[in-house]
Amino acid sequence: MKVIAAEERQSLKTCISPAIITRVRDFGEADLLVTFFTPERGCLKGVARAARRSRRRFPNCLDLFCLSRVEYAEHPRGGELHTMISCRLLDGFEGLRRDWSILTLAGYMVEVVEMLSPPQAADPSLFSLLLRTFKLLEGEIQPLHVQIFFEAAAMALGGYGIELGRCSSCGRTYEGLGRAAFHPEKGGIVCLRCGSESALNPGLDPLGVQALGHLQALEWDLFERMTLPREMAQAIERVNRRHMDYRLGRRPKSLAWL
Ligand SMILES: [Zn+2]
Repeated sequence: MKVIAAEERQSLKTCISPAIITRVRDFGEADLLVTFFTPERGCLKGVARAARRSRRRFPNCLDLFCLSRVEYAEHPRGGELHTMISCRLLDGFEGLRRDWSILTLAGYMVEVVEMLSPPQAADPSLFSLLLRTFKLLEGEIQPLHVQIFFEAAAMALGGYGIELGRCSSCGRTYEGLGRAAFHPEKGGIVCLRCGSESALNPGLDPLGVQALGHLQALEWDLFERMTLPREMAQAIERVNRRHMDYRLGRRPKSLAWL
């Protein structure tokens, strides 16, 4: 038995990666079970042994939504539970903790990331987006704007961008004139000849369509320069909601707290 254990120890592969800590809970007597999101391997789980008893190996770096540099040993037999070896804080995102609603929004974003990113799969652009939106949430920016940016950009990065360039029914190019209705099952906007606005098919005016286009293309600066009225941001939020409900198949639980 001892020989096998020693061989296993030798064959343990250790990895070092930046990671956002997405979930932390007590595990056993003194350990922590940590879920962390990495750019190269998506969402992973690890046990931080004795982390509740001694903070020496894990000083302030396993708090929720921290960006940390984690070192972990892969599970020896390909299991999903890895062993955390050490950890160093890179950014505590203290600004997220100033307000319960901001913290809830961060939790919602993490849940969307978990829905979009298959475990153990590389998703560096989604990782960058989450970091970028956490930074924005720390600033004095309207949280609703950060939310609709994150939603539109995350869906587009996940391969679910909304077609905004043409009517998804008749194919006519959308010239940026007149209102359009969003049809979730078509994954795009339709002209008002082909469909009408309703609670299930929320509408956008030309400025809203343009703004959503900037968000999907991750053009935050261009979007911000538009200084969108609140009603228009809410209209984009309604479109995002219908789109995400339809494509993801279920609602993130944390949405109820937003
Ligand atoms: Zn049409």
